[in-house]
This record gives sequence, structure tokens and C-alpha cells, in this order.
Amino acid sequence: MRLCDQSDTCRVLYARGLPLGISCPRCSRRILLKVGLLGIHEHDHRPVIRLPLLCRCGAIDVQRVILESPDEGDMFLDGRSVEGSGMARTA
Ligand SMILES: [Zn+2]
Repeated sequence: MRLCDQSDTCRVLYARGLPLGISCPRCSRRILLKVGLLGIHEHDHRPVIRLPLLCRCGAIDVQRVILESPDEGDMFLDGRSVEGSGMARTA
């Protein structure tokens, strides 16, 4: 799994069929958003990073995490650190 960057478009996310990981820097909540709930489609060229997303705590600067395989959903929810996020890693 890795953080979204500018080159990740909704189209790619849609084709992959895996949920998008959302991590909130303010309240530390982590959720998985199913592609069907994101309102995207197969010809959607918007960058994922621009999707308007809002945490339940009101934060809008949530981190978007691209999963590489279905197993990573659980790993993400378990609080596994994300490559490139700059989050502190615990040994
Ligand atoms: Zn939050």
C-alpha cells in the first residue's frame, strides 16, 4: 500500500476494484471506502487526491492510501504504516 500521488486517477482505482484507504491525521480514524461509494466511474480522470473527502471529525486533509492487494485492507485498518506517508514508524 502507498499514499496516493498526483498520477493516481479515479479510473485506475476503479479498474483495480479495491477500496481506497482513508486515514485521518486529526483523529487517527482509518476506514476503507468502497469504490462504489466514491462516485467514480471507469472513464474518470480526476486525480484521486482531489476527491472531496471528509472525515467524521470534520477534517478534510485526510490521507488517501492506494491498496495493492485485497489483503492490505486489513493491514491498513490494523494501523500498519504506509509507505511514503512520513508517519512515525514503530519498530
Ligand atoms: Zn478525523
